[in-house]
Amino acid sequence: VFNTSIGQHILKNPLIITNMLDKAAVKSTDTVLEVGPGTGNMTQKLLERAKLIVACEVDPRMVAELHKRFVGTPFYNKLDIRIGDVLKSTLPAFDICVSNLPYQISSPFVFKLLLHRPIFRCAVLMFQQEFAQRLVAKPGSKLYCRLSVNTQLLAKIDHLMKVGKNNFKPPPKVESSVVRIEPRNPLPNINFQEWDGMLRIVFVRKSKTLLAAFKQTSVIKTLRANYRVWCTKHGRRVPEDLDMKAKVTEVLTGCELASSRARSMEQEEFMKLLLAFNKAGIHFS
Ligand code: SAM
Repeated sequence: VFNTSIGQHILKNPLIITNMLDKAAVKSTDTVLEVGPGTGNMTQKLLERAKLIVACEVDPRMVAELHKRFVGTPFYNKLDIRIGDVLKSTLPAFDICVSNLPYQISSPFVFKLLLHRPIFRCAVLMFQQEFAQRLVAKPGSKLYCRLSVNTQLLAKIDHLMKVGKNNFKPPPKVESSVVRIEPRNPLPNINFQEWDGMLRIVFVRKSKTLLAAFKQTSVIKTLRANYRVWCTKHGRRVPEDLDMKAKVTEVLTGCELASSRARSMEQEEFMKLLLAFNKAGIHFS
């Protein structure tokens, strides 16, 4: 009996599993992280190819199932089963991550992966199709969002294949897709908290102009507070007549992005914008 409220949809098509492992180019020297091994169909194939599998599973019943399946086989000493919520666990060092993920943890898990160190070689992951399309969306596309910009800043992402509902037991409500994620190495020299803080502002309404987005009272208020903190940290006096609206407008016109809209902005433009703000002492975290 599967608990679909924690995403228990077992991938039953062996061809898709093999294909995912091929795309990940799993080597016999690799340590592989698998999240949500379930009954172990993918784990089985991983054990045949890799050196060590660290399998993180939250459901004790599935853990028992895994144990039963592999105990007494030559594979057992290559398998490190960890019980618990992967989002609350410290990830081990690993070379590759291959998983048929529970979809409700997709977004936090992707960022946990991408901010994890040491850096890994690649991840081949099954997602809900729309989530996968958001990950790879380019400027101007309807699904382009904060998730697209953030993940593409940290990684190179490819959509590998669509996977229909009937490849799972029980079939989920939505279609799925497999995506390959390769972390950028080295990572761009950017403070991720600042970057994300800025994107949160411009992607609330991605069709608004930047000028309109930044001139909102609530945004100005936050930026003013951050600016005071920054001044204090750097031993500067906060100007009596601080006009944050004017300061923000100046930065936006200075880098010629005042009338740009987040929905069609390239990564380089967001970088240019953050740099210009930071230069003026304006911070987002
Ligand atoms: N990988 C298996 C397969 O392909 O047959 C099953 C994948 S199923 C989509 C997701 C699995 O993730 C389930 O076994 C579920 O118990 C587990 N799971 C759900 N939430 C989790 C979490 N937060 N941490 C670790 N595992 C989780």
